This record gives sequence, C-alpha cells and structure tokens, in this order.
Amino acid sequence: MTTIIIGEKPDAAFRIATALAEKGLKGKKSRYGVQYWEFQRDGKEYIVVAAVGHLFNLKQTTRHQGYPVIDNIGWVPSFKAAKKSAFSEKYFRTIEDVAKNGSEYIIACDMDTEGSLIGFNVLRFICGKNDGKRMLFSTLTKQDLIKSYENMIQHLDWGNIAAGETRHYLDWMYGINTSRALTLAIKKTSPRFAILSTGRVQGPLLSILADKELEIKEFIPKPYWQLQLILLINGNEIIALYEEDKIWNKENAEKIFKECKDKSAIVDDVKKKKYTQSPPAPFNITSLQTEAYRFFGYSPQQTLNIAQALYTNAMISYPRSSSQKLPPQIGYKEILEALLKIKKYEPLCKKLLALPELRPIEGKIIDMAHESIHPTIEPPKNIKKLSGPAQKLYDLICRRFFSVFASPAIRESMQVLIDVNGNKFLTNGRRTLEKGWMEFYGPYAKFDEIILPDLKKGDELSVKQLDLLSKQTAPPPRYSQASIIKELEKRNLGTRATRAAILQTLYDRNYIIDKSISVTYLGLKIAEAIKKYVPDFADEKLTRRFEKELEEIMQGKIKKEKVLNKAKKALIKICDEFKQNEDEIGKELGEAIIQTQNDKALLGPCPKCGKDLKILFSPKTRKFFCGCSGYKDGCKTAFPLPHNASFQRLDKICEKCKTPIIMVYRKGKRPFKMCLDPLCIEKKSWKKPDEKIGKKGRVKQIQKVKK
Ligand SMILES: [Zn+2]
Ligand SMILES: [Zn+2]
Repeated sequence: MTTIIIGEKPDAAFRIATALAEKGLKGKKSRYGVQYWEFQRDGKEYIVVAAVGHLFNLKQTTRHQGYPVIDNIGWVPSFKAAKKSAFSEKYFRTIEDVAKNGSEYIIACDMDTEGSLIGFNVLRFICGKNDGKRMLFSTLTKQDLIKSYENMIQHLDWGNIAAGETRHYLDWMYGINTSRALTLAIKKTSPRFAILSTGRVQGPLLSILADKELEIKEFIPKPYWQLQLILLINGNEIIALYEEDKIWNKENAEKIFKECKDKSAIVDDVKKKKYTQSPPAPFNITSLQTEAYRFFGYSPQQTLNIAQALYTNAMISYPRSSSQKLPPQIGYKEILEALLKIKKYEPLCKKLLALPELRPIEGKIIDMAHESIHPTIEPPKNIKKLSGPAQKLYDLICRRFFSVFASPAIRESMQVLIDVNGNKFLTNGRRTLEKGWMEFYGPYAKFDEIILPDLKKGDELSVKQLDLLSKQTAPPPRYSQASIIKELEKRNLGTRATRAAILQTLYDRNYIIDKSISVTYLGLKIAEAIKKYVPDFADEKLTRRFEKELEEIMQGKIKKEKVLNKAKKALIKICDEFKQNEDEIGKELGEAIIQTQNDKALLGPCPKCGKDLKILFSPKTRKFFCGCSGYKDGCKTAFPLPHNASFQRLDKICEKCKTPIIMVYRKGKRPFKMCLDPLCIEKKSWKKPDEKIGKKGRVKQIQKVKK
C-alpha cells in the first residue's frame, strides 16, 4: 500500500519529498542512476518519483513522408521519438519499476496545463491509471507544499489536461505540416538542402518582424531643423528648444535663428505641477522579462531559465504567470519578515512592516491559475552563493515586491517659457519631492531628474550658445527581444510559457539576427512567400482564435475534439494552398537560401588583401576553417576555427591583429567573441582557467585552436 507522488522535475520532486516526510527520507534510493524518495506520513508509505519535463512526445504513427498529416498522430515515449531525448529513458524506466504497484497516485507537477499533462501522461502510459489526485501549489516552500498536500483535489484537473493536450496537437500538426511543405517545396526546386520551419505562432511572429523590417527599409528620412538654446543657470547647462521642436522649412529656421542670435533670454512664464506616480504592478513573466532585459540585458529565454531555477529552489513563486494580482493568502507579512533576515533588505522590510496596513497595488491582468511573481518565505540562506544572474534577478523580484506596498511617489514638473526677441523657447524640469515606492525599487526606479532653479517671470537668463541643428527624422525603432515578447502578449499570440522559445527558433533558423532584431533576407522571403501563397497562415486571427478556445477548454466550456476538428479543417485548406503553389514557393525560397547560406559563410575582410574571409571545409583534415576568397589571386590567409561551433560576423576588426572579430556559438555554452588570428596578443590571457565555464569549454576549445 504505497502512495506514488509524481513530480515534474528531480529538484522539485526532492523538495516535495522533504517537505512531506515527517521523519525524514528513508536513505538514498535510486535506479538506473535516477533518484526517487521514500518516506512515511500519517503511518502511510509514500514514494516520490520525478519526470524530467515531458516524457512523451507526439509522433506520426505511419511512415508517410508527405503532407498533410492530420490523423495517425499519437503519444510515444520521448526517448523513442528523438535522439536528443535519449537521456529521458532512465527516468521512464525508474518510474516504470518503482511506481507500477502504487495503491494511490498524486500528480504534483507544476501548476499549469503543461504540468497537468506531463503528470497525466506518466499516469496513463507508465502507471496504467486513468485518474489520480492533484496537488496544486505556486511555490515550493515547505509550508505551501504541506498546505497543498492537505487540500489536494481528489481527481485530476481535466480542463488543464485537455487544454494542454490540445495545444500539443495544434502545435505539432501545424509545425509538421507547414515545415514539411516548405522543406519539400525547396527539395523539389533547389540544389541546396535546408530545413525550414514555421508554426502556428512562428508564422504570425515572423510576419510581424518582417513588416517592421520592411517599414524600416522603406523609411525615407525627412530633413528638419531644430533651434537649441543652451542656457547657463547656476553654473549648469540647461537646454531649451524653440517651441516648434521640428521646423520643416529651412528658410524659416534660419530667419528665426537670425532673430534670436545674440539677443537676451527672458523668462516669460513658469508653470509648476505636482503629480503622483504609483508603483508599477507586481511582476508577471512579461514585465519581469522586460525589466531584466532593460537592466541586465538578459534575453527573455535567459530570464525564464533563471526564474525557473529560483522557483525550483523555493525562493520565488511560479514564474510562468501572466497575473498581476497579489492575493493576501500568500502572506505579505510572513514574506517580509522572512526577507528581513537579508541584511540589505532589513531597513526596507522594517519600514513596510511598520505600515498600518499592507495593501499592494495590483494590475488588471488575472491569471486563473497563478498569482504574480513574488519572493517566498524561504529566501536564500546565503545570497552570495547564488550565481551572479540569479542574485540580480532575485534582487529585482524582491524590490518590485517591496515597492508595490509603498506609497506613490510625488513628483513635480516645471515648464519654463522663455522669450528671445519675441520668439518662444521651452525647457522642462522634473524632480521628485517624495520618493515613496522609488526608495524600495532602488536602482530600478529610474526617472529623469532635471532640476531647474526657482525662476520667475522677468528673470534674465544667461545664454551660452544658440545652435541651428540640421536633423533627420529617424526610422521606427527595431524590436528588442523584450519588446517583441511584449507585443506578442498584447496581441494575445502564443503563451507566456512558449513565446521566448518560439523567438529562439527564429534565430536558430537564421530568419532573424541580432539583439536589436533584424530579419534576414531568408526570413523576409519566407514571410513574403507565406503571405503571398498561404495568407491564412500568417494571419494572427486564426492563432488568436485558437488561444481563446484553449482557454475555454481549460474552463470546461468546450470540448477539445471540437477545437481539433476545426483546426484540422483549417490545416487541410492551408496545405492545399501550399501544394498548389509548391513550385513558386520553392523557386523563391531556394534562391534566398543560397544567398543566406553564402552570406553566413562570410566572416569579414582579409587583413592582407581586403577580400572576403570565408568559412571553408577542408576535405583533407575534415574540418572547417577560415580562408581568404582571394586564394586564386595568391592570398594564402587562413585561420583555424573552433570545432562544433557556429559563427556570426560582427563587422568589427581586432585592433591588435586586424582580423575580423566574430561571435562563436556552441551548444549549451555561453557564446563568446574572438578575433580570427590564434596568435593574437588579445588571446594571451585566455589560458587562465579563471571562469567556471572556461575550465571545460572555452579554454580547452581555444587551446585546440592554438595548436
Ligand atoms: Zn586575402
Ligand atoms: Zn586579434
């Protein structure tokens, strides 16, 4: 008579076991090198086993290579579906051995549709059961886990499971069919091989980015003139602009400039206004990703990974949340009392605890399953032991949590109207009168402070300089990784859990490059071809409708079969459109692939002859290297390249050796920059194994190159 508890990942499973074990765990248990945990509670036997994320994948059950693939889809163990998932077999086998003969089953995976589906698949396909109990928790603290155990629901959360399963079917069906269609179209018409892909959210996302790229490419800058008055007030330079900040007519601008030249500046009017600024809403995943990008430069995916690790260590609540709510049940006071033990937060926590009432400001967005992201009652014992990025993110999350309880900041704006020979100039000041929440948000509360002295009508100001500036209107800004994720959220495309990964796929496929996102020629061509030949697929409406229906499945309002049938119909139509235009699509993309692959092989100019340095393959050594395309003209410049890596040109030249600097990417490692010359003096310091990642990855790699 053993109760089996299924956790989503080993770390989380271990936490669940330690929280629930009344007299500690029964020794170290493992099978196939995978740990599981045994303990007693209320005189009953328990075993906690861990999945390792999804242990099952969807797969086509027939061998048919064409498309559409609409039926004949089923769940198979991940280790059988894909080589890269081979490691999951030992988790599968461990659960199979240990959990087969349970008398009762509890799913304790993460509290979302993915977690519910992960647990259910383990339950039905490995343990052979059709129902179980469900523990729901949003933090992995001991207190919350015990509470969730005591209040677990007596059956599985079928709405979540159905929504999760439908999402997997939708994504899989759309992904396989459209990717197969693209790849087959290329295969038919082009000599180059390339795997192309697109997907249910990927298609519309690429389309949004491509539209922006075209808008920027087609942008024609318009000239305008600006009159800038530099004043010297109390020794500070203050800039005032002519009341029309863009003057479109040059003669007009020159006329005003002449009128104002060497004339005195007199204060004409001063307007002061006090206003309050409320603290920002509690973090959800999108605002956390935005702020982490803004302050630390982390990509959304990086932020998600770091946050996930903090969650697994019980330090913060579940991060894949879209909620901006902070319900009182999380225990504001208890959390603040726990964080008080961290020295740097002590004064802040004390101030908040002294308030007559703790009432957080909240945003509008509700997430049925979660609260917003907040620190828990289990802060790290020694914050310095966290990795640098984890420390930073944790600090950001704690400070945001503090600030939502604090009072609004009181600020004052001041507008000064200045008369110069009948022409009006304006300057604006802004200052904080009472810091309020900004004190709590600390370094992340950044607002411009332009403090102007007390001025009154009639004051004469000392003019340092008057400039007539010739300017051009700027194209719209590119999306950053954070701003495009925000845009997707706004348009209700994808989910909080998947957006970052889908964006990464576009990078992996060479459709987009750079932090400030540019769409490549290939990306533009794919977006164009899809829009031209398969317009339904680039259409956001379809994707958004599915998101809404998934939500309704979750709430039990509609059946998953209904949604899937509709999706199949839409997909058959899309596949038909693809087939009819296969030749045209193939021709257009084939040419784009050749150009993109060629571009990608170029690393920058040769330091000797100036021709392009190129990534080449040596049949003799069977290795990639970098050689000069002026080889035929007698230039023998060549450099070794790190193995098992991919490269991106940066259009920068090393000051020391004059070779191009490139970015090197290796799977699972941090990317790094290097110049091409292995003997360059810049690389002298590289041998020191000073960084953790250096020991195994970076330094070894570089020494290899040096040989
Ligand atoms: Zn050369
Ligand atoms: Zn160099």
